[in-house]
Amino acid sequence: MGSKDFTSECRRCSLAECRTQVVFGVGSLKANLVLIGEAPDSNEDLEGKPFVGRSGEIVDQMLDAINYDRKKVFITNLCLCRPVNDKGGNRTPTKKEVKACRKRLIKTLHRIGRYGILYGLAASEAVLKVKWPQWGRPVYCEEVGKWFTPVKHPSWYLCGKKKYIPFAITEFIEAIKKMRKLYKLGET
Ligand code: SF4
Repeated sequence: MGSKDFTSECRRCSLAECRTQVVFGVGSLKANLVLIGEAPDSNEDLEGKPFVGRSGEIVDQMLDAINYDRKKVFITNLCLCRPVNDKGGNRTPTKKEVKACRKRLIKTLHRIGRYGILYGLAASEAVLKVKWPQWGRPVYCEEVGKWFTPVKHPSWYLCGKKKYIPFAITEFIEAIKKMRKLYKLGET
C-alpha cells in the first residue's frame, strides 16, 4: 500500500512514543477520491483504522450521500500516529510532527486519487500550504498536481454542533460535484 513507505516501526517524530500503533491509510489504491484527516484519535489508535468511531459515522454518511462506500475511496491522515495531550486526550499535531509525516502524505497523494477532501485546518494547511483556506472551495495543489477541497473536520460537529451535520453533508456533496466538474468526470 502506498502509505507503507513509513513502516509500523517509524520513529521520525515524537508521536512514536504515545501511539498504540501506526494507523495506515485504507481503501482502494485505484480510488478517484481520497479523504485526508488530521491524525488518529483514541478510537483510530486502538483499532488501527482511520475514521472509526463517531467521526467515522459522519464520514460514512457523507459517502452514502454520493452513493459511495469505504471500499471505493482511500482514507488516510496527515499524521499516522495519535497525538496525545497531557491529560491523555487527543490533540492537534505540532508543526514538527506535521513536518515529519507530511512528505509521506504528499507521496501517497501523488500515487493515489484524482482529487481529495481535506478534513480540518491542519490537513488543509499542510497539503495546500495556505493559511486559513476557504471551506468548500476546491484549490489546485501544484505540488501534487491535483484538486483538493478543505472542509471542517467531522469531529468539529460532535462538540455540541450536531445540528450542522446536514450542512456538512451538503457541503461535501457540493465539493465532490465541483471537483468532478473540474476534471469533467461523471459520477465516478
Ligand atoms: S506520525 Fe508519521 S513521522 Fe511521526 S512517527 Fe508516526 S508515521 Fe512516523
